[in-house]
Amino acid sequence: MSAKKSLPTNLIEAIRYFSDLDICTDFVAELRWPHGPHCPDCGCVEFSYLTTRRLWKCKACKRQYSVKVGTIFEDSKLGLDKWLPAVWLIANSKNGISSHELGRALGVTQKSAWFMLHRIRLAMQTGSFDKLDGTVEVDETFIGGKARNMHKDVRKRRVTGTGGKDKKVVVGVKQRGGPIRAAVVPDTRHATLHAHVHENVAPGAAVHTDALRSYSGLDKDFAHETVDHAEFYVDGQVHTNGTENFWSLLKRGLHGTYVHVEPFHLFRYLDERVFTFNMRELDDYGRFATVLRLAAGRRLTYAELTGQR
Ligand SMILES: [Zn+2]
Repeated sequence: MSAKKSLPTNLIEAIRYFSDLDICTDFVAELRWPHGPHCPDCGCVEFSYLTTRRLWKCKACKRQYSVKVGTIFEDSKLGLDKWLPAVWLIANSKNGISSHELGRALGVTQKSAWFMLHRIRLAMQTGSFDKLDGTVEVDETFIGGKARNMHKDVRKRRVTGTGGKDKKVVVGVKQRGGPIRAAVVPDTRHATLHAHVHENVAPGAAVHTDALRSYSGLDKDFAHETVDHAEFYVDGQVHTNGTENFWSLLKRGLHGTYVHVEPFHLFRYLDERVFTFNMRELDDYGRFATVLRLAAGRRLTYAELTGQR
């Protein structure tokens, strides 16, 4: 095992640190096997280590396994010396990074970079946790169908004024002083939004929404209050400023970095932005290590994810 160096704190240090494949292997091994390596087949903790090939060999079933097996890095020809800097870049990019940019930065093809991006985003999906409680903001926004870049005829067909057929509806649910969740939903109908709120918010919580009629009736199960965006003041503590901050971050990334996000991939992009937003209190190393733990398939509680313990 290689000698310990002090942990990286920025991109340059990370690239230098992870240029050594033995250090990469040790690093991922310690994250995914905090109590020592074990065979993914039979669970046996006895092994020999094949130094030159960086493989473990199970003493019981003789199977050889790498640190990549069972992680998002499995089946990839790219080495951890490419993967770990990629995780660092993606975990710490505020507005997102395109596959072209990532490919250039790592010296891999755009196709490889695209694949890495998607795998890493998959790791950033934090799954579902307990329902949000306390004061919870619920707000919707429309993504896509950018009219000004379209040809006039196309524009006529596609733009319908109220959000439009080609736009995707994204609903944000944010606990005041806590995490945000964002998801693509089919429409802004009463039934859709009510189901979404019930899935994500604990009964009895204070729910703040805008004045959209689809939200009416939430007061049966929640302490529902509405904000009228037409008003120039924020009515005391009733506001959706947290979700609106998130929308501006989201849209800045969409318009600046990503030329076009396929509707099919929008949810992955959302996961990435949600992660960045919820992890904004962590430093670069903290965000990197969090994504890496997720990538290595370790289950984490929300408290661990946010560093609250
Ligand atoms: Zn085994």
